Amino acid sequence: MVGDVKKRVLITAGASGIGLAMAKAFADEGADIWVTDIDPNALKTVDPSWRSSQIDASSEPEMIALFKDIKAEWGGLDVVCANAGIAGPTALIEDMPLDGWRQCVAVNLEGAFLAAKSAAPLMKAQGRGCMIFTSSTAGLYGYPNRSPYSAAKWGIIGLMKTVAMELGPFGIRANAICPGSVEGPRMERVLEKEAALKGTTRDAIYEGYASGTSMRTFVEAKDVAAMARFLASEGGRYVSGQAIAVDGHTENPDPKV
Ligand code: NAD
Repeated sequence: MVGDVKKRVLITAGASGIGLAMAKAFADEGADIWVTDIDPNALKTVDPSWRSSQIDASSEPEMIALFKDIKAEWGGLDVVCANAGIAGPTALIEDMPLDGWRQCVAVNLEGAFLAAKSAAPLMKAQGRGCMIFTSSTAGLYGYPNRSPYSAAKWGIIGLMKTVAMELGPFGIRANAICPGSVEGPRMERVLEKEAALKGTTRDAIYEGYASGTSMRTFVEAKDVAAMARFLASEGGRYVSGQAIAVDGHTENPDPKV
């Protein structure tokens, strides 16, 4: 709640994975939820009491249309979770295809930019707001074989710190969450791809990732969502411009190329 008013929360790529966990966490505290996703089938499975729209987060016309609808229906927006992201290609830099690089940067970084660009005027007009960007521990360290993903996730942190400076005087905070490897189908796909690339097993790759954290583990989407909820809460009211890892403390990311 904001004062005695329900929070209005938009989550991009909110029909599955981390975005869905964020939507559920905010719904649990009574917020109004609007999720977008590129996948119409996934959108059909979300809570019918939520607003939902099929939107490609990297498409400027689609994002502009979305925010027009939000303004018309909600009149404003309290929290935006710019969460859309794709893993992109798994390859050494010399083998990295330019089209795969561009697509990865478009969804992860340009998608975050478009969300911030459209949310800013709505939040400025109401004199408050909270932007939460989903980066990654790949935005805190080098990430072998994943150059476009890592570059985009570092870029999100630069974007977040800049909008925090620009919008802070208007009562708007911006932060990024950097999840470590999250249990679920997405990381399973990454593990399989890397195992194939390196000629080893999925379990060996899993161990490599997990052993780089102090807690020797992957994290769960609900833990990332709990951080988003904290950042948007009264308790987080002076937290801005931060890239916060939810990763079981990655001290030494898997160095094996
Ligand atoms: P996921 O693969 O489960 O995908 C979540 C959703 O994104 C899907 O429903 C998919 O349809 C949607 N999506 C894909 N492209 C889209 C687009 N162009 N526009 C709108 N929606 C689109 O992923 P996830 O694990 O939930 O990841 C969510 C965010 O968290 C991403 O930004 C990802 O990079 C980041 N992240 C994930 C992990 C992890 O281990 N899973 C770790 C760190 C950061």
